[in-house]
Order: sequence, then C-alpha cells, then structure tokens
Amino acid sequence: MSELELRHEVALGGWVLHHSGLSDYVWGHVSIRDPEGRGVWMKASGLGFEEVSEEHVLLVDDRGSVVAGEGPRHSEYPIHTEILKARPELSSVVHVHPPHAIALAASAQPLAPISHVGGVFSDGLRRWDGAPGLVDTQQAGERLAAALGGDRALLLTGHGIVAVGRSVGLAVTAAIMLEQACRVQLLANGFGGVAAPMDPPQLRHAYAHTLDESFMLAAWRYLARRAQAARGGA
Ligand SMILES: [Zn+2]
Repeated sequence: MSELELRHEVALGGWVLHHSGLSDYVWGHVSIRDPEGRGVWMKASGLGFEEVSEEHVLLVDDRGSVVAGEGPRHSEYPIHTEILKARPELSSVVHVHPPHAIALAASAQPLAPISHVGGVFSDGLRRWDGAPGLVDTQQAGERLAAALGGDRALLLTGHGIVAVGRSVGLAVTAAIMLEQACRVQLLANGFGGVAAPMDPPQLRHAYAHTLDESFMLAAWRYLARRAQAARGGA
C-alpha cells in the first residue's frame, strides 16, 4: 500500500464509523500499521471523523513522535502502537466510545450472543477495568494489549472499546457490530432479559458463519459504499 492509500484507509475508516453513529465529538481513532515498521497511521487530533481527509492523517511512532504529516497527535496513540506490537498478525486498531457498549461495560452482564452481530463475539469478549481514564502511556497501552489477549475486541469499563483486525475494514466493522450487539442486548433487557440463552452447540450452529471473515467483509464493503456515497462519491 502506498502512503496515500494508507492515509485513505484511515480516513475511510473514520467516515464509516461516523456514518454508523460511532462518532464522539472529536475523540476516537482508527489506525493502520506502517508496512515499513515506522509506527501507525492515524488521524490528527481535534477533528471529527467526518472532517478527516487524507492530509489529516499522521504517521506516529511508538514513542509518540509525529514522523510524517502535520498536526497534533492523539494522546491515546499507545492503544494502537502497543496492541500492534503485541499482535503481529493484525494491521488495524479502532478505539471509540459508543454509548451502548459503554452501558454494557458498566453492567455486570457478559455480552449475550443473541443476534448475528453478537455471534461475531461468541468466541470471547472480555471487560477491562484498568482504563476509565486515558490510555496515554506505553505502560497503560501494554496493559490494555494484555487484557485484549487474542480477542477481536475489548470493553473498557467507564471508557469505550477497542476492536482489531487484519485490515481497517475488519477492525471498523468489528467496532460497529459490537455496538449493535450491545444495543440489541439492552433492548432485550427492556423486554425482561434473555430468557433462554443458547447452549454451545446451538451457538455454533447459529453463528458459525459470523466467525468467517467473509461475513464481516461483506458488511464492510457495504459500509464503505454507503459512507462514500454520503460524501458525494469522494
Ligand atoms: Zn478513549
């Protein structure tokens, strides 16, 4: 991927998050690993996802120095640098503050896989209580990466979520599906809760297809088309 393509992936990830309702003013970020090992590409701080264009994307190294691009970096860059250090198979990290996921994280409930999007997380989703404040040091980033383990996403109690993937599309789609799954669960709670949780064989039968990357990639291609159409085909 060229430098322009890397910048475009980061901008597109943000547009999709915005058009899926995962904006939180100017906070939250998407990153992609620099293929030359120089750090991560992520947007400059102070801008909402929908305001970001390719020229607002920076290359930040693992000490927080801006190596390429112009603008202030986000203080929580260690979320991205430390997860990508710990998980060499990944290319992208998303950190956002979606309300339904935050509400579920604040409860004592595990995520119940009761929908297709919930099935994406049926092989494990943990809750981390270590970061109600900012994850803005290398040590905090290392602890977050350890809490994530080999999972696809993590709830940060009192804060938000992280979602990861082998591409920006997979990480962004995981973030969107996690928020949707949490919203469905809160709706179920409004009807009195989940009456009959499925047992493991039933779960595997119901949601095996959601664990295949092709499920998330089909959603991602749609989300990307929708975001680009909303920007007038940009
Ligand atoms: Zn945050």
